[in-house]
Amino acid sequence: MNKIRVRFAPSPTGPLHIGGARSALFNYLFAAGAKGDFVLRVEDTDLERSSRESEQNIIESLRWLGIEWNEGIGAGGEFGPYRQTERLPLYVKAAQQLIEMGYAYKCYCSEEELEEVRIAQQVAGDTPHYNGACLHLTAEEHLAKEAAGLKPVVRFAVPPHQELIIEDVVRGRVIVNSDEIGGDFVILKSDGLPTYNFAAVVDDHQMQITHIVRGEEHLPNTPRQLLIYLALKYPPPIFAHVSLILGPDHSKMSKRHGSVSVVNYREEGFLPQALVNFLALLGWSPEGEQELLSMEQLKEQFSLNRVSKSPAVFDIAKLRWLNAQYLHALSTEEIAAGITPYLPVDFDEKRIVLLAETLATHLETFAQVKDYLHLIEGGPLPDMDEKAAAVLNQEHVARLICAFSEHVEALSEEEFTAPAIKEAIKQAGKETGAKGAALFMVLRVAITGCMHGPDLDKLAALIGKKNLLKRLKYLEA
Ligand code: GLU
Ligand code: ZN
Repeated sequence: MNKIRVRFAPSPTGPLHIGGARSALFNYLFAAGAKGDFVLRVEDTDLERSSRESEQNIIESLRWLGIEWNEGIGAGGEFGPYRQTERLPLYVKAAQQLIEMGYAYKCYCSEEELEEVRIAQQVAGDTPHYNGACLHLTAEEHLAKEAAGLKPVVRFAVPPHQELIIEDVVRGRVIVNSDEIGGDFVILKSDGLPTYNFAAVVDDHQMQITHIVRGEEHLPNTPRQLLIYLALKYPPPIFAHVSLILGPDHSKMSKRHGSVSVVNYREEGFLPQALVNFLALLGWSPEGEQELLSMEQLKEQFSLNRVSKSPAVFDIAKLRWLNAQYLHALSTEEIAAGITPYLPVDFDEKRIVLLAETLATHLETFAQVKDYLHLIEGGPLPDMDEKAAAVLNQEHVARLICAFSEHVEALSEEEFTAPAIKEAIKQAGKETGAKGAALFMVLRVAITGCMHGPDLDKLAALIGKKNLLKRLKYLEA
């Protein structure tokens, strides 16, 4: 069998989004498992919407996720160039071939003429489609149009009533009649640029792509692509259309549902290994029960056979849970490095490491560290809820806070560390007879305004002696 070759072929019209990242990942995992090639090709023929900036964003997002390609943009290879705008002669040549074989023809219709046809068809209750006006132009008519300076597009002549069969690894056999395609479609625009359906086929063939793994939203394009394969006598690749990603409300995932681009998740403090794990489970499932899967495990286990036909629902709570699992497994140093971008610049390294240690098991994402800053920054606490307020409404509270404050007062700034604070709590408990919740919960609420949270002694050390006393004084008053 031929070597398996797959590709990810993004249009650089914006940042890499979740759906694109999942397609890239599935291709990458499939290639890795089959010891095949993974090509990155940039489909930039929409000049107005494409930019190098988007291309760069896509590349950086893929790299951040740990998705690697061994051929294509930035990696070289024998089938380059890998940017479609650098391959224009190939498309012109293939279009020429199709014209010569009678599968395509030049169309000189103007926008206005096409619009008129569309309107007439709509009035007649027809679905708009090209009416084939230029299909049978004679050689003289062609010359006359060219002489008049008209720039033609090239259209593919869709054969009528032809059954097109797509054997899709995920969806099974999909049958489409050529009459449903909507008429002779443009393959080459008047400026010489190819359309997506055409360029993709020419490239996928020339690059010897064996499997096309992409989102279900491209399934409607596949019959046109299949026609082009058949006309050019290219053996079609194997198709695998992966289901749509839906938002929690089961409509197609969009910005409405939150972040859609990979950089957003990076900025929000998610870990690439968690996002990869999450993306892999959007439409694919492993054989076993295990949900936490590293890239290496995914490479070993991934198979197209276990890609589901039903849509995947984007569950942000699950992503957060996965992220927490990966985050909690990191070393204190790694967490410290991860939270640093979200901290005020005046936090020194020691403080950052202590903060990382304190919050290690409490964070789901790095960015969440921001939610804890008000606790340690000495400003006023938000109003406590009734339950917490009730904790402070006990007879011994004032005495306990007073005793604890005295011990805190006795510590110098240098001595004000988590172990010393722990000892101060213990002493205050002994002196007042408060134990268990009567001791720890009271001090926790007094210091944080909250009934749960990270280790109190470490938090108190982060708050600092001055601010801690201020907070306790405020309570006494
Ligand atoms: N350029 C297309 C896209 O970004 C590629 C589709 C395909 O994989 O064929 O959607
Ligand atoms: Zn025409």
